[in-house]
Amino acid sequence: MSHTFTALRITENADKTFTRQLVTRNTDELPAGDVLIKVVYSSLNYKDALSATGHKGVTRNYPHTPGIDAAGHVAESNDSRFAIGDAVFVTGYDLGMNTAGGFAGYIRVPADWVVKLPSGLTLQESMIYGTAGFTAALSVYKLQHAGLKPEKGEVLVTGATGGVGSIGVALLAKLGYQVIAGTGKSSAHDFLKQLGATGFLSREELVDMSSRPLLKGRWAGVLDTVGGDILVTALKSTKYWGHVSCCGLVASPTLNASVYPFILRGVDLLGVDSVECPMDARLILWQRMASDWKIDLAPLMTTECSLAELNDVYIDKILQGQALGRIVVKI
Ligand code: NDP
Repeated sequence: MSHTFTALRITENADKTFTRQLVTRNTDELPAGDVLIKVVYSSLNYKDALSATGHKGVTRNYPHTPGIDAAGHVAESNDSRFAIGDAVFVTGYDLGMNTAGGFAGYIRVPADWVVKLPSGLTLQESMIYGTAGFTAALSVYKLQHAGLKPEKGEVLVTGATGGVGSIGVALLAKLGYQVIAGTGKSSAHDFLKQLGATGFLSREELVDMSSRPLLKGRWAGVLDTVGGDILVTALKSTKYWGHVSCCGLVASPTLNASVYPFILRGVDLLGVDSVECPMDARLILWQRMASDWKIDLAPLMTTECSLAELNDVYIDKILQGQALGRIVVKI
């Protein structure tokens, strides 16, 4: 059976500019796949804003519907793991990149991408986490696996008011770490304190442009979401045998670093990719995010918006680095 639905659609114009608008689509137009999901919630991530503005590194071909996260109910399934009515969600893989994404009433995807909603989470909560929350959890998992423990000292989170950063702050604080928030928003200190941060550094304080190969070692760990000179400075400021995770590039994808933090202090630089994270690790982490790692999600969902508000306001806001916490989209 086919269904009509509303979707945010991005089209490429002849002059290489991009237009985004709400359109009516039909499920027959969705790509082939095992599971059709009626979307109830999605969420806005930085990558969605890149896709929505024509970034070919994220989305090669337009017209396209962004939305790397989607949660809802199974409407059709030809895979025995999923039955009609199951509450499920999808984060990552190719959703919203080159596969029509969650800023729409329906998605159709391969069954191997679909996660059953764990008990302990609602559909809305799964999208307050979304890709950002999963990436924060994966970063913390990698830092802990490398040896980071609360008694080893302070942990810096950069881009702290963003999606990944804010959940990183809350999760690390819940697990007993002393969290210092690196943020460009001095007006957001109360928000970050509420999440568990105990100290703050401005963007200016996070960057040392001197040629010194190492700085005074302060951090036992760093959860970096921004890259560039902030990441380089964090590496130089990490203590002997400290650990640094890296997932993002909002400041810059370039790393003008020397090898000294690695060869003189044994610092670990840990790469984080949530997109293709294997399903077995994915399920373990989501289970934890729904139970012993579950944080208070209410203060993190600073905005719940419609597809129209997403289009009119929030895509631009996240591109300007003005987003605070998580923006959940009610479809
Ligand atoms: P958000 O836009 O929600 O957060 C990014 C935050 O970074 C902003 O809120 C701001 O926080 C800070 N920031 C913005 N611009 C700059 C700048 N020019 N210099 C320094 N800091 C800046 O994005 P997300 O949290 O969704 O994603 C963060 C990064 O992680 C992105 O690059 C994204 O692509 C990447 N990512 C990677 C994933 C992976 O699997 N590797 C998965 C998910 C995201 P503040 O004002 O507090 O400093």
